Amino acid sequence: LEDQFRQAQKMEVVGHLAGGIAHDFNNVLAVILGCCQFLENDVAVGGESRELVEEIYKAANRAASLTKQLLAFSRQQILRPMLLNLNEVVTEAVAMLDRLIGEDITVKTSLQSRLWPVKVDGGQMNQVIMNLAVNARDAMPQGGTLTIETSNVELDETYAQSHREVTAGSYVMLVVSDTGSGMDEQTKSRIFEPFFTTKETGKGTGLGLATVFGIVKQSEGHVTVDSELGTGTTFKVYLPRHETAATSEDATKVSTSAPRG
Ligand code: ADP
Repeated sequence: LEDQFRQAQKMEVVGHLAGGIAHDFNNVLAVILGCCQFLENDVAVGGESRELVEEIYKAANRAASLTKQLLAFSRQQILRPMLLNLNEVVTEAVAMLDRLIGEDITVKTSLQSRLWPVKVDGGQMNQVIMNLAVNARDAMPQGGTLTIETSNVELDETYAQSHREVTAGSYVMLVVSDTGSGMDEQTKSRIFEPFFTTKETGKGTGLGLATVFGIVKQSEGHVTVDSELGTGTTFKVYLPRHETAATSEDATKVSTSAPRG
């Protein structure tokens, strides 16, 4: 039964991942296909270049239908994003952690009051927190402190420019940090890869952080990591703030003042 559970979890993970990758890949393929169409008009029929362009076109089309299948598969795995207060998810996760974490590790939480709402899947976010916390535990075999924090943050243009694929704006930040072993640069650069693990066989799957990455990506957020050997590791998950009633009220005003009929 345990195996089945693990297998189901693994499939879910792979589904999330595949969905995230397929989505991004689709955008890349759209560019390739678009360029091919342009090139096809430019190169002479029957020439060698023409043949090459057609080969690229065919291959990109095959890839596009493959990503479509992946997206269809992963969509079944997607749970329901709901408007929620991340503090509640953290509180629930911390209660669950009790059984997973030994007494030599102190769990501290610092939750911002009036946390902005986010639109995410509570179950998925719970998994994110659990995966990060279990890694933190494993990094502190001699004990230590696991800290979980939430806060409202504004990410400015400077931040966005120094982090690829991040848009400036309002985010809810979840911080999970430990006082454990830390990581060297080489390990750090590979942690989000599926199946990358430094744990002994049977102890790690290497899917924990790949799942975190996939879930956060699908929630339109991003995740960063800071780590220092012998000192500890800090993961920061940023989730976009959900539009508040105030902003939709503005939108309503505009539409009601517009002329009718
Ligand atoms: P797994 O936990 O199964 O190894 P993960 O994807 O969760 O897979 O983690 C990959 C690797 O990243 C771990 O094996 C470990 O080397 C490193 N890692 C993750 N979290 C931490 C942490 N908090 N402290 C130190 N190393 C970590």
